[in-house]
Amino acid sequence: MATGHECGEASLDQPEHQDVIDLFVIGGGINGCGIARDAVGRGLSVELAEMNDLASATSSASTKLFHGGLRYLEYWEVRLVREALIERETLLRAMPHISWPMRFVLPYHKDMRFEGDTPTSKLLSFVMPWMKGRRPAWLIRLGLFMYDNLGGRKILKGTTAVSLSGTPEGAPLVDRFSKAYEYSDCWIEDSRLVVLNARDAQARGAKINVRTKVLSAEQRDGIWGVTVQDRDSGETRVIRARMLVNAGGPWVEDIIRSAVHINAADGVRLVRGSHIVTRKLYDHDKCYFFQGEDGRIIFTIPYEGDFTLIGTTDMDHANVDEKPVCTDEETEYLLQFASSYLKAPVTKDDVVWSYSGVRPLYNDGATSATAATRDYVLKVDQSTGAPILNVFGGKITTYRKLAESALEKITPFFDGTRTPWTAGVALPGGDFPVDGVADLTSRVAQKYAFLTERWAQRLVKAYGTDVFEILGDARAATDLGRDFGATLTQREAEWLIDKEFARTAEDIVWRRSKLGLRLTQDQIAALDDWMSGALKIPEQHGVA
Ligand SMILES: Cc1cc2nc3c(=O)[nH]c(=O)nc-3n(C[C@H](O)[C@H](O)[C@H](O)COP(=O)(O)OP(=O)(O)OC[C@H]3O[C@@H](n4cnc5c(N)ncnc54)[C@H](O)[C@@H]3O)c2cc1C
Repeated sequence: MATGHECGEASLDQPEHQDVIDLFVIGGGINGCGIARDAVGRGLSVELAEMNDLASATSSASTKLFHGGLRYLEYWEVRLVREALIERETLLRAMPHISWPMRFVLPYHKDMRFEGDTPTSKLLSFVMPWMKGRRPAWLIRLGLFMYDNLGGRKILKGTTAVSLSGTPEGAPLVDRFSKAYEYSDCWIEDSRLVVLNARDAQARGAKINVRTKVLSAEQRDGIWGVTVQDRDSGETRVIRARMLVNAGGPWVEDIIRSAVHINAADGVRLVRGSHIVTRKLYDHDKCYFFQGEDGRIIFTIPYEGDFTLIGTTDMDHANVDEKPVCTDEETEYLLQFASSYLKAPVTKDDVVWSYSGVRPLYNDGATSATAATRDYVLKVDQSTGAPILNVFGGKITTYRKLAESALEKITPFFDGTRTPWTAGVALPGGDFPVDGVADLTSRVAQKYAFLTERWAQRLVKAYGTDVFEILGDARAATDLGRDFGATLTQREAEWLIDKEFARTAEDIVWRRSKLGLRLTQDQIAALDDWMSGALKIPEQHGVA
């Protein structure tokens, strides 16, 4: 069960005695890392390869919500919504540092039009044809009632009605809206979630390889020979495994056909979603849920203290290898959408950053990108002789449940595996009470008096109880080594290299943190320079 492989020239003719691992996971997004963590905790030997950085694709480009998906109720995706709603609180408890409750204000107007193609729309146009795409208030309330009650809520507050006249919630909005409903969902730092799953998997014995691409996988005598290539050295090696997990996200189909050479009928529909980040658009800490006449919805979310996050779009994305970017058309769409609700129109000049990701949705033949199912599908294929599990779709919110379902399909291939264990087990740094952030921050601020309030808060919301290990016995900011700007110090950067698989400045400033919003290009370049030096002496930093 030990991990074993040979370096140098790749060859499938491995010696008989070479170690064979149980599970090889392709892809270091949330699904690959979640499955690796669950599997290693059940006693399997696990190795994972990610061709770029962890969470470098879809899993860092989400709207960053642990949510049931209110909108999916329109599509009657009750199983998905229920699972996600229940999961929100399980996840909050396991990671109170990187996830927290948020309130969403949904302005309501009787003339608002909704998408005409959903099962709800079709039913309504049959029983209430005079509504013509509008929704009666009682139906919205019913949806929110289901949202409140499908998922056994204990921590999160339920739905309330809110007046938009003379209230902070109403202040930024155009006068057309006088009433709204307010409900709960949760924020999640998506890319940190991925990294913490990988860290925990590694701590339990998994081998995590970043910047390592799976070139091909061939089966011989029931064992996979997986050829991987190190992106930096170009070196290839072969790893032998009893089972493969293909968690390639948008590349899942590509991997099935080009790397593993299987003739599977299943595929993904690639749907791009973009977000823009603007200067802070309003003063309160709640989000808005805006309903568009095209049947789409967008959120505006208070972001990183000084900004507002607006998203998302739904556009078919033709080529998986084309890096998704927020196009001018999408930016314009989001600006116009938000401006139709906000008193002060949002313009291009307000935009400070944008990002884009591709949803790898299971191709269920839906007509529109918006209507394609958000549920996940797991399929084991044994047509070549050795088993491979292909993962299609999934939400950040359901990653832990997806991993459990994956393990249900994986464990029959192995003897003596342990039972499900991840519910209730904290991620690294998350071993404190679900409402304990303020208390932890004040303990950190007390012990490290040199930290500003914002700095202490940032560290706690990124690292939780690990802050004490990172800062150690520092008594002054100068004890933390070089200052890279925006409170990023050498001590923190070393932690990110040693423990969180960071290899480039981009990994640090856009995924391990969002300090890219505050650092200048020169500061980021200086960090990159320093990192290339630091990574040349891996023994010093314990880099694997
Ligand atoms: C715009 C948008 C908003 C979203 N908002 C939310 C939200 O608010 N809440 C929510 O719950 N979900 C949300 N989602 C969905 C969620 O982000 C995705 O379902 C999830 O991140 C998919 O994770 P993944 O691991 O399957 O894919 P990915 O994160 O894309 O990971 C796949 C990884 O595989 C790697 N890979 C591919 N090929 C190879 C190879 N040959 N060798 C090695 N590595 C390889 C890639 O580099 C990549 O990192 C959103 C998605 C989008 C696009």
